Amino acid sequence: MISPLYINKQQWDEMLEHVKSYVPLEACGLLAGKNNRLEKVILVRNQAQSPVRFVMDPYEQLQAFEWIESQGLDLIGIFHSHPAGPEIASVTDIAEAAYQVVSVIWSRKNDEWKARGFWIEDGEVMDVPLLFNEG
Ligand SMILES: [Zn+2]
Repeated sequence: MISPLYINKQQWDEMLEHVKSYVPLEACGLLAGKNNRLEKVILVRNQAQSPVRFVMDPYEQLQAFEWIESQGLDLIGIFHSHPAGPEIASVTDIAEAAYQVVSVIWSRKNDEWKARGFWIEDGEVMDVPLLFNEG
């Protein structure tokens, strides 16, 4: 059973600003929280510096993991962008999904950004609703 991911407006905007600032390259980051509630957006440098793929800077990723643990939070999601689409997970995203967490993908079409959530497991992709909370 897929649970929605709860995000607040500030967190949404943080991700959006980050992905916009990376155009035309893909941007990425980590989502820390508890259960299905996002508590902290962590921006991570895309080491690949590519418009079609992302590789998290390993040092920043390690630092983020340590911070998440020190806060008693869990890694609940990973976000990245598709500045030139598509809005769904790519073949690479499916092949490289390494963590059992929600994938949030930001895509751009006609300068309009949207975000969708996915659960990728064993080559299968399921939609995860992204819902706003008031926090
Ligand atoms: Zn992707």
